[in-house]
Parts: sequence; structure tokens; C-alpha cells
Amino acid sequence: MKLPVLLYHKIDRIPPGARYPRSYVTPERFEAQLAFLRRRGYESISFADYLAYRHGAGRLPRRPVIVTFDDGYRSNRDVALPLLQQYGFRATIFLVAERIGGTNTWDPDEIQEPLLDAAAVRAMQARGIEFGSHSATHARLTALDRAAVLKELRDSRALLGTLLGRPVQVLAYPYGAHNAPSRHLAAEAGYEAAVAIRRRMNGDDTDLFALRRIPVTSETSVARFAWDLFRLSWFYGT
Ligand SMILES: [Zn+2]
Repeated sequence: MKLPVLLYHKIDRIPPGARYPRSYVTPERFEAQLAFLRRRGYESISFADYLAYRHGAGRLPRRPVIVTFDDGYRSNRDVALPLLQQYGFRATIFLVAERIGGTNTWDPDEIQEPLLDAAAVRAMQARGIEFGSHSATHARLTALDRAAVLKELRDSRALLGTLLGRPVQVLAYPYGAHNAPSRHLAAEAGYEAAVAIRRRMNGDDTDLFALRRIPVTSETSVARFAWDLFRLSWFYGT
């Protein structure tokens, strides 16, 4: 089974002065991408579904896809969620556990945008949105020593577990940055899988602690999006 996992950040207009405009996808384009996925018969699944499948305990739809968002911007609720629901898709959002209800302070040069607060997270969870950890403070794990990495991973998993009322299964490495020590520590901290950034599909033998996600940016046209999914379905490699 080949599984594409899509990575978005913000579904919104690009505000003037944005330093990283690529992290925005306009609502119109996001809607066109969702419409494309639906036309092609893609059905969104959760990581819980995927992990059950990888462990031999579940089946997947014929054309599965996982839609993910990093950082947990409030616009995920205000702009993305209505479109996801309109097209019948679910999604997984990776939260920066110690910044919930705050702003993207890890990016001091970027426009500060509100992040989901605890009440919004719980309300979205009740509507079928899955949440994972994007560390405690959005630290680059490959730049930290072992103790600091473990603290980021354990603190965020504990905070989010309390907020969500269930164990957190999946980690998204901040900046997609991971190495052998951080992959091992993610497992040690109790995660069952972790996602990075890599323009490839996932196969049944893909390392669960280095799952690939296809980044979708402000520059990803619907044609490019369609081409990526078509091309990657044939080109599955390292
Ligand atoms: Zn991030």
C-alpha cells in the first residue's frame, strides 16, 4: 500500500510582509486540491488507522491519504476545517505543546499568528480531527543533546496527552529535522511513529519514525499537486 501524507501549515491569504510566504496555501487553492483528491477517490485516514494497518490490525481504503498541518494555527480551525468537512476529509494537526494558545514565537522574524488554544483543540478533536506532537517548543531536535531532546518529546507528549485525554501516538519533527538519535528517542518517549518532510510516498516497509510527507506550499498549483501524486505513485524509492 502506498500512502501519501500531505503537509500544510496555514490555509489563508498571504499577509503583506510575510517572511515565509511558502507556508501559506490560499483557501481557493486548498479547496481545489481537496476537490481533486475527492474526484480521484482519495479517502483520508488518521495515523491511528495507519498504525493499526501497519501492525496488521486494520484495513485501509483503496486510495488512502493523510492530510496534516504543522504548528496548529488558529486558521486551521477557521479556514481549513470548514473546507475539510465540506469535502469529507479529516486531518491531523501537530501542536507545539508549550505554545498552545500563543503565537509562533519560534519564528521571531515571521508575522506572529494566533495558535489554537486548548478549548479549540478539544472542540476540533470532538469533530474528528486528530492531534499529534510537534515538540514542546518547536526546537530543532538535531541541535540538542540527548537529555534536551527527551525533555522536548516527553514534556509535549505528557501535556498533549492530558489535553486530549488519550495517549499521543505521532510526532512531527520540527523543521522535519531528524537523525538516528532523535528517531530512537522518539520511540523511547512513547511515540509509535514520527513524520518528516520528504517528497515520497510511504510503503509498508517505510521506517515508522521517518514517515515521509509531501510539502504543499503557496507555489503548489493544482496541476503540480496532481502530478506529484501521480508521479510518486510510480516512483517509490529511497
Ligand atoms: Zn513547525
